[in-house]
Amino acid sequence: MRPAVGAALARCDECGGYEYGGAPDCRRCRRLVDGIVEEKWHCFFDQWQGENELDVARLITAEPDQHDWRIVDAALDRIVCEECGNRLSRGPMNCSACNLAHGFRYAAIESDRPGVPRGNEHAIRVNVSVVRRPQMTSAQELLARRLFLPALLVGFLPTTAQAQRISAMIKSDPTPERVSGLVDDWLRDQRTW
Ligand SMILES: [Zn+2]
Ligand SMILES: [Zn+2]
Repeated sequence: MRPAVGAALARCDECGGYEYGGAPDCRRCRRLVDGIVEEKWHCFFDQWQGENELDVARLITAEPDQHDWRIVDAALDRIVCEECGNRLSRGPMNCSACNLAHGFRYAAIESDRPGVPRGNEHAIRVNVSVVRRPQMTSAQELLARRLFLPALLVGFLPTTAQAQRISAMIKSDPTPERVSGLVDDWLRDQRTW
């Protein structure tokens, strides 16, 4: 189950960071992140009694703008890329079929949960997408994306100015300890509002 808005951040037993934030290297966090899209897919696919899962997945990816982003991402996971043999959209940087499919995923519906700043769900979907195709991103961006994900999931969202400030600080010292510290400082400021 994905964390609710306003939930306390929990520590992961396996990596010691906040849950979800250790993906993709921490196996437990990686499963939690995959679970965000898988949970939604299972609820959705339950309504398609007797249908072939791959056929349904192909149907969904043909009309990504009609479905929640988690359903679209889960559908892509179920299709094997004909060019590179990976899960469609998650292959190597030079796979044109994967890159094309990845572009289409952003047509999907992103619905903010009640009580979150506008754009929170978009931020979650971008960070989940980055963490699940880590080979496409610089180590520095991956680090920021993964460490912010737990806070986004409980309903926080940096303003553009905060995001720029934090990103400049990350560039000057991109170590996991330092970035975790920045996220914690930022969270502390949010809570006192
Ligand atoms: Zn972990
Ligand atoms: Zn591919």
